[in-house]
Order: sequence, then C-alpha cells, then structure tokens
Amino acid sequence: MDSRIFARRTLAAALALFFILYAIAPPTAAQRRKRVPRATARAVKEPPRQRLEGTKHERPPRTFDVLNYTIRTRFEPENRAVIGDETVTLKPLASGFRSFDLDASSMKIEAVTLADSDVALQWTQPPDKLAITLDRAYEPTDTINVRIRYRAMPTKGLYFIQQQTRSGSALTKPAQIWTQGEPEENHYWFPCYDFPDDKATSEQYITTKADEIAISNGALIETTDNPDGTRTFHWKMEQPHSSYLISMVVGNYAKLTDSYKDVPVEYYTYRGTEEEARRAFGKTPEMMRLFSQKLNYEYPFNRYAQTIVANFIFGGMENITSTTQADTEILGNTSRASQQSTENLISHELAHSWFGNLVTCKDWTHAWLNEGFATFMEAVFRENEAGHEAYLEEMRSNTFLYFLEDTYKYRRPIVYDRYRTPIDLFDTTLYKKGALILHMLRETVGDEMFWKAVNKYLTDNRNRTVETSDLQRAFEETTGKSLAWFFDQWVYKAGFPELRVRSLYNARSRTLTLDVAQTQTPDATTPAVFRLPVAIEFVTAQGARTEEIEINQRSQRFTFKLESKPLLIHFDKGERILKKLDFPQPAARVAYKLAHGSDATSVFNAGAWLQRWSAERYRRLATTGRARANVHGI
Ligand SMILES: [Zn+2]
Repeated sequence: MDSRIFARRTLAAALALFFILYAIAPPTAAQRRKRVPRATARAVKEPPRQRLEGTKHERPPRTFDVLNYTIRTRFEPENRAVIGDETVTLKPLASGFRSFDLDASSMKIEAVTLADSDVALQWTQPPDKLAITLDRAYEPTDTINVRIRYRAMPTKGLYFIQQQTRSGSALTKPAQIWTQGEPEENHYWFPCYDFPDDKATSEQYITTKADEIAISNGALIETTDNPDGTRTFHWKMEQPHSSYLISMVVGNYAKLTDSYKDVPVEYYTYRGTEEEARRAFGKTPEMMRLFSQKLNYEYPFNRYAQTIVANFIFGGMENITSTTQADTEILGNTSRASQQSTENLISHELAHSWFGNLVTCKDWTHAWLNEGFATFMEAVFRENEAGHEAYLEEMRSNTFLYFLEDTYKYRRPIVYDRYRTPIDLFDTTLYKKGALILHMLRETVGDEMFWKAVNKYLTDNRNRTVETSDLQRAFEETTGKSLAWFFDQWVYKAGFPELRVRSLYNARSRTLTLDVAQTQTPDATTPAVFRLPVAIEFVTAQGARTEEIEINQRSQRFTFKLESKPLLIHFDKGERILKKLDFPQPAARVAYKLAHGSDATSVFNAGAWLQRWSAERYRRLATTGRARANVHGI
C-alpha cells in the first residue's frame, strides 16, 4: 500500500526546491565570519516529542486454517449493497472443532449451511463477527465447506463511486465499484479471517452490468453473458495469499495489454485516456525485469494488472496480481517531478509482489517488511534509471520526511505493538525509515551479500508469513555474521544518532584528531550509543584518502596521520548511516565543498533542512494531505 500522508506531487516539488536552495546557496557573510556553516547556524525548536498512543496488540490465536474462499457477488449500486454468496473451505487446527468465528461487519446474514449437504448451521452475530456452530465436532483431518449467503452495505472495504464528469474537462470517469482490504477492511464485503497470518487461495464470480467489466486476482477463467443481460466474470487466484490482498474493481474500462516474458501485463484505464495511461504505466515490464534480476527471483505470479480508480483512499494498493492505483497519481502528470512520483508509485506497488504478496508480514507490527522493502525498491529502480546519486536522493528525501515525523509528531520503534487501529502504523517511520534501514543493511553487509540474503529471505519464506527475525536469520545465515546489534538498534529501538564531530589538525605531528560524540538524548527506546560503521574521506593537497572507523561509544577520539592540512573532511562518505550531523568545518573547507560540488553528498545535511520547518508548517502540510486521503465517507 502507498499511504503517503502528503500530497505526492506537492511534496516532490517542495523537496526538489529544498535540494536546489540548499545546494546552491553560498554561505552568508555572517556564516563566513563566524566560520560556522549553515548546518548549525540555527537550532531547531523542537516541541516535546509525542508517542504513538494505543493499546498493546497481540496476534489473535488461530483455531483453523482457511484453504479457499469462493465469493459470488452482485451489486445494487443505488442501495450501495453487495449481494454475496460465499463458500469458505477450512481445516481445524485442533481436534474437537465445533465452532468458529469469521470477521464480518455491515452485513445481514441470510443463511449459513454446510456447502456439500446443505445442512443449516446455527450462527450469531457478535459485534464485527459471524460466529458459526458446526453440526458436530471436526478433526484436523477434515475439510469443512461452509456456505454463507448475505447482504452487505459496506461502510468500509468496498466503495461505490458515481460517474464523474467535470465541467470544462473532456474526461468522464465511469461509475466504479472498488475494494480496499488492507489493513483489515475486506470483512466489510465478505466474511473472512481478516488478519494477514493465514494464506488461502481465492476465487470470485462477479456479476456486472452488460457494459462493465470486473477486474480481480489471478486468472480470468471465464466470462458468462447471463439471460438477464448481466455478465459474470470468474477469476481464480491459485497461489495462497493473505485475505487483505483479495480485491475487485468493476466499471466500464478500456484494457491495454503489455507483457513481461510470458507474463501478461494489463493496464485498465478510462476510455479516452488510453494513450496517457500507456505512457504512465509504460515502464512496468522494465521494472518487472529489473526486480526479477536484482532479487534473482522471477516475478512470482501469472499476471500483473494495474487499474486506476477515482477517489482512492491511498496512492496505490498491491492487491495480489491486480494493483489498484489512484487515477490522480497516474493521469495528468506532465512535470518531471510528478512523472518521477508516478514511477515511484508504480515500482512501489510492483515491489510488493515479492515483499507483501509472496512473503507477507505475519502481523502489522512487522509491516515494515512489506512497506520498507517496497519503498526501498523505488530507490533501486531510480538507481537503475539514473545512477547511484539518484538512489541517494531518494534516501535523502526518506531521511527528511522521517525527521519531520520524528520532530513534529512522534518517535516509535519500527516494530511496535501499541496502536489504536492498524492503519496508525502505516506512517512515515514505517515507509521511510524502513527503506533507510534496508539501505543501511545494504551498506553494512555489502551489495553482493545484501542481494544474496534478500534472495534467501524470499526463497525460504515464499507463500508464507514472516516476522523481522526471519529477515535477520536470512542475513545472518548468508553473511555468517551476527546482526543482532544492527536489528536491535535500528528495528527494535527507536530514533537515530545525533553526532557532534570536531576536528583538529596538528601540523607539527601531522596528525588529525577527530572527536566524535553521540549527543542524542537517550530514553526508553532511543539508544545512548549506536554502533556505526562510517567511512571518512580526507582530501589534502596530496589527494584523497578514505578511512573506515566504527563509532561504538558515547564519546570517542580518532587520530589519523595526514601529510598536510585537510582541504575537506567528508564524514560518512557514501551516506551510509541515518544520522543528524553537527560538524562545523572552517569556511575554507565549506567553500572547497561547494567548488567541488560534483559530489552533491558533500553538501547534504538533512538535519539542516529541518531548520526551515516549523511545527505549524508540518501540521499544515499533514492536514492538507490527510484531508485528501481521508475519504472514508464516500
Ligand atoms: Zn506499500
């Protein structure tokens, strides 16, 4: 899912402007006089940090394993109603299995029967549940088919959108019905086990008006024209998947076809926007090729479709084999920044095919395994398109957005079990810090080991659900090294190091002293000491030299032999670690950096950006973004 808080395009433009301003603005006279670079010129006024509030969530106990959902639906758009007939196939996990609950909200249940014998079953409807009592006790060797006939009027999970014609616009958006399952909203339109730690196959028979089509998961088996003038689309997804990935879109759509190897690739768009949609989606097969190569794991499914919808709640959603995209993110993007934002969205959702759909977080506390990877893969696509500097630009933007949330909203560990509703966890920390953690992991173990370990993680856990320890295990087994320290400080603890660095060159002894202090305020979740492998580049008249150090104390002194006074000290060359850096360098060194600006990394300091922000400004942007995203009422 892409649940960015901010309007993507506004943000992309704002960020681009910041980079430009910060990179090109020369130091002011005052800064030169005081020999203080802008990075430390003004202190950020930080309001007291909040926490993400909520109750502790634990994985609900499972008493059964769903094997398959077969869902038959037709609609009464005028009543916003779904008429459903579903068969759930399941196996008990323990003997003496006599009753079970499914998640079900906004539904009037009409009948519950054993599908094979038509024996009526007892049922009740506690809040948000359908509690079914079976005719007898069943054993784990039994397979039970339960048929549920119902009428749903979903307040979430499934949305009826009316046809939209904007005055002065040639574009007519057709009437649509679309679903959004993640995190736990599919049970508003079909009864299910609505939690990610159970994988089942699924099959849908969707009945539409004559001029409409239904787009769903897996393969289209058959389309039937019914005597009453309606049509039924039979879709089947044969690889098991978590129930939140089940989806459908119904509407009068134009279908564009493409391919990656022998995998059909489809784009569904509004009539009259075919050309524009093909341009926007055009790089999809290239992305599938790149990700398959990088991961050394072929695109895992039999088809990949993307469908645009109106009034979408998020940027996009990786429903299995059949991504849903917000039409505003795909159409009408003409500027370079917005085209890049569209590509990021497309690569993000595609990356979920591996991270989220093939291998799925066991519960939402580990959702960074889905979202961190998908956001990281956006940068991997950028890197392939435009080089490593473009990849680093993505990481800088991730850093900045994460700092904004950390400064003005709250700080939390990325694996965190306290929240009000699961969607609370889909924050900037989850997406952006998640991507930064993977970037740091890549820098820590090296590129080759990184991709090898990621491949092992995918291969060992395919079609299964995972938690963070599964990723750690894949990396430790691949590299033969313990990475407990890495996961502990970055994943299970919160925050980031704030480094104060001071340098002194002694011309007589030809030594450079670097004093490094970690100045972050430790608290229950923020470590007092981070372990940080860092590369430092010294540029002298004799040339450049890079030294590797490991920072592992609150305060440390490093000394280096240097032939002459450094023209430049480039701390954390390659931007390997997430940090705020306070390292005032003499104006001559700052000037050298700017003069040799081909390496933009030498002038970047995300901490400095924050000085241009305020709580008020953050709130304004966040509120605008929210207002746009929060369309649950439709
Ligand atoms: Zn996502």
